[in-house]
Amino acid sequence: MDFRYPPAAEAFRAEARAWLEAHLDRSLAGFSLRDELDEALVERLRAWNRTLADAGLAAVAWPVEYGGRGASVLEEVVLAEEMARLDAPGPLNPIGLANIAPAILQFGSDAQKRRFLPRMLRGDDIWCQGFSEPGAGSDLASVRTRGVRAPSGESFVVDGQKVWTTLGPFADWCELLVRTDPDAPPHKGVSILLVDMKLPGIEVRPLRTITGRNEFSEVFFTDVSVPADALLGPLHGGWQVAMATLAHERAGVATLHLGVRTRIARLLADAPARADRRTLARLWVLGELMRIQSQRAVSAACHGVPAGPEGSLLKLTWSLVEDAIGEAAGGALGADANAGEWGLERVWSRAAAIAGGTTQVNKNVVAARVLGLPVGRPAPATRR
Ligand SMILES: Cc1cc2nc3c(=O)[nH]c(=O)nc-3n(C[C@H](O)[C@H](O)[C@H](O)COP(=O)(O)OP(=O)(O)OC[C@H]3O[C@@H](n4cnc5c(N)ncnc54)[C@H](O)[C@@H]3O)c2cc1C
Repeated sequence: MDFRYPPAAEAFRAEARAWLEAHLDRSLAGFSLRDELDEALVERLRAWNRTLADAGLAAVAWPVEYGGRGASVLEEVVLAEEMARLDAPGPLNPIGLANIAPAILQFGSDAQKRRFLPRMLRGDDIWCQGFSEPGAGSDLASVRTRGVRAPSGESFVVDGQKVWTTLGPFADWCELLVRTDPDAPPHKGVSILLVDMKLPGIEVRPLRTITGRNEFSEVFFTDVSVPADALLGPLHGGWQVAMATLAHERAGVATLHLGVRTRIARLLADAPARADRRTLARLWVLGELMRIQSQRAVSAACHGVPAGPEGSLLKLTWSLVEDAIGEAAGGALGADANAGEWGLERVWSRAAAIAGGTTQVNKNVVAARVLGLPVGRPAPATRR
């Protein structure tokens, strides 16, 4: 196997590296959306996002007409590697760029693409994903938030509740999954609406998590009148749009190993000589396993193989590694690992076993669809 990148990707690396060295505001290094967000930090990250967009580096794989470079997945990975090297924050709109934009590109009208994509790319609008509800997470087809088409056909009236809406407190727009046909089978009666979060009747209640941070919210919809042109894709055909969105969420896991391995390297550097070497070595190996699985995913993408259930394996490894980093930090640093960066890491790591599809559901998918094992019950048609 040859893990070297082709010359064109290496030429792009040199260009990206030189640009980042020259333009990155070093005081922003290390910031991410996991930090406590306030308007001032959001504005600084937005300014950085615009600088990236002006250089054509906010979403290199997007088509040129919407501000990308029409580049391949390899260039995307190379840029992510160079950004990680300098701990540079990514664009302000990670969910929008990585998950929602590909769905708009695939299912949106020309008017929707022109209206939403350029502003998303520059971070002018922040997007959130309103899929999960109190009774619909793994079993996403159970969504109950209703979108009733007004008799005039000019609008939908939306009522219901979403939860775990990342970036909800700061979002301008939402990709919202609603039930538009209550009489159809669960997967056939849902639609996707692109909803302006400033519409009357929308209430965002920020949720503070165990990390103490404010990345989440609940969102309540009461008689919200959403214009009919908010519909993305076919009416009652929202399941395929939602699945396309989540397929991109899975593919996004392919560069997560960069941040993970940086933190492992930091722990190896911080660990005192008395720390258990075997635990640390095992952790390093897990980080390398994640890198190799990521390379396999990137290689498949380069050969035009669509993201399949193997993404669940990578997601499983990611949650394992996140958990192992927290545990190893506790063992190596003792009480010092209960505060500061490592304290945050240890409580946040639990979220990796839930976000984007839980560990249990992923194991079902891997058992049934990757290993072909017999399962007692059919693998659920879940978000993974
Ligand atoms: C960091 C983070 C960010 C998130 N961001 C968003 C977001 O932006 N937008 C959004 O819509 N949602 C978001 N979510 C929600 C996330 O998608 C859901 O939490 C997840 O899909 C699980 O759903 P649930 O919480 O309802 O748990 P449930 O589905 O109720 O699961 C509860 C438990 O039952 C287990 N379980 C469920 N079904 C099965 C099964 N068939 N077989 C075996 N075990 C099963 C699960 O593994 C879990 O342990 C986010 C979550 C996290 C942690």
